[in-house]
Amino acid sequence: MDGNYIKLNSMLWMRIKYRLGLIYKTILFKLGLGKSLLKNRYGERILVFHGIDSYGETKLNSRFISKLFFEEFIKYITTHYNIISLDDYYNKKFKKNTLNIAITFDDGYLNNYKYAVPILEKHNVPACFYITTIHKKAPYLWADFLDIISFNTQKKDVFFEQKSYKKNNKNEFVNNGMSLKNIAKTLPYDTIKLMYEIFNDDWNALPPKQFEDYWKLMNKKQIKEISKNPLFTIGAHGETHVSLTDIPLEEAKREILTSKQQLELICEQPITEFAFPFGYYNHETAKYCEDIGFKKLLLVDYNTKNDAKNETWKNRFVMNPYISLEQQLACLLKGSYF
Ligand SMILES: [Zn+2]
Repeated sequence: MDGNYIKLNSMLWMRIKYRLGLIYKTILFKLGLGKSLLKNRYGERILVFHGIDSYGETKLNSRFISKLFFEEFIKYITTHYNIISLDDYYNKKFKKNTLNIAITFDDGYLNNYKYAVPILEKHNVPACFYITTIHKKAPYLWADFLDIISFNTQKKDVFFEQKSYKKNNKNEFVNNGMSLKNIAKTLPYDTIKLMYEIFNDDWNALPPKQFEDYWKLMNKKQIKEISKNPLFTIGAHGETHVSLTDIPLEEAKREILTSKQQLELICEQPITEFAFPFGYYNHETAKYCEDIGFKKLLLVDYNTKNDAKNETWKNRFVMNPYISLEQQLACLLKGSYF
């Protein structure tokens, strides 16, 4: 059997497991038996959020949750579990008999500053913000540009890098089963940015302000303000949000170093935390991060079980905007959506 066939089958199986798990949990909660799913479990998790919006739009991307959901979630976890700073997490200042949680945000959206920060301050919850320092090159992240534009454009097919991409019913541009977004993930930024030209007229025709929550990034003043707040820390997330494992190592090093230096200039303090874009890392990029002074490296999943032994590298639990608060809590306690 070929590797792709096995990979496809295991992905399908994970999807079925995820769906069945959701149905099972929904039935338990409906029958009033869901408490067993929310029993305290012990251990520790680092959560990763991306965007927070005003009402929970899930058509544009799969990374945003509503401010209402966010506050309900924060209220619940601060009441029932032990919320700690990432520093305390790394120093293993955990409470026994409960779940210890640290909170992180990736990408550096203005909506973090607008919606999440006031809620975190109100409930006295520490958090770390990992910022993409693309400001000089573009006002948005390329993935958000593509998400918003794919949703809004009248174009049915586009030509990019000698390939034709047709829009499907999920608003993705696809060639041979591969989406433009997934292809872009493997490219250097100088190639990715050519997409801006294809959709430039569509971007300029967007209704003013309507999508700002989904693409606007924090400015320097807002980043600095967060860095001065004792509840929060600022970390780096690369300069252009490219996959650091798909571009040449020297270019990856430049991305990492530039984002560190730019944030140190803005915040006037050492930046010692780095979150890998898309969670993609390898030993070369991680070693470089450690060599230039990063003390905390945030991933999504470990590449291998052995990687979990490295005390600098931590995996994180990604929030899911498609499920209820109860379901989200049950998955968080389990540490898995499967
Ligand atoms: Zn990111």
